[in-house]
Amino acid sequence: MEQTLAIIKPDGVSRGLIGEVILRIERNKLKIKAMKLIQMSKTQAQGFYAVHRERPFFQSLTDFMCSGPVVVMVLEGENAIKRWRDMMGATNYKDAAEGTIRRDFATDIEKNVVHGSDAPETAAFETGYFFNALERV
Ligand code: ATP
Ligand code: MG
Repeated sequence: MEQTLAIIKPDGVSRGLIGEVILRIERNKLKIKAMKLIQMSKTQAQGFYAVHRERPFFQSLTDFMCSGPVVVMVLEGENAIKRWRDMMGATNYKDAAEGTIRRDFATDIEKNVVHGSDAPETAAFETGYFFNALERV
C-alpha cells in the first residue's frame, strides 16, 4: 500500500469543486486516510513548495497557494501516487488527457485545481508536512 498527498488548491475550493474531486477519488477506490481544510501562510506555502524555490513561478505559485483555503488529504492504495497523478492530468491543463480533473476544470497552468505528490520520497515529506500520526486513521 502506498500513500500520497492530495491538495484541492484555492481555485478548486473557491469554485465549489471539493465534492467533485472527492467523488472522483472515491470512485477510483483510493482511500482517504486523513483530510482537513486549512489556509496556509506564505511561509508554509514556501516550505511546502521548497523544491521549486529557484523556479520563475515560485513567488506567484506560493502567493496563489495561500490566497484561500485548501483541502489537504492523504490518499492510500496500491500505486496511489501514480493513480492520483493520472486522475489529475498534466500540469498544463491544455496537455491533460480527457477525463482528468485538470482537463475538465483547470483554467490556467498555475490554477490547476489539484496537487499530487510525484514520488515516494516527496509523498513522505508532504504527508508529514500537514498531518501528524494522530490525524491519520
Ligand atoms: P503539483 O506539484 O501542484 O501537483 P505538478 O507536479 O503537475 O503539480 P510542478 O512542476 O510540480 O507540477 O509545479 C507545481 C505547480 O506550479 C503546478 O501545479 C502549477 O500550479 C505551478 N506551475 C508549474 N509550472 C508553471 C509555469 N510554467 N507557470 C506557472 N505556474 C506553474
Ligand atoms: Mg509537483
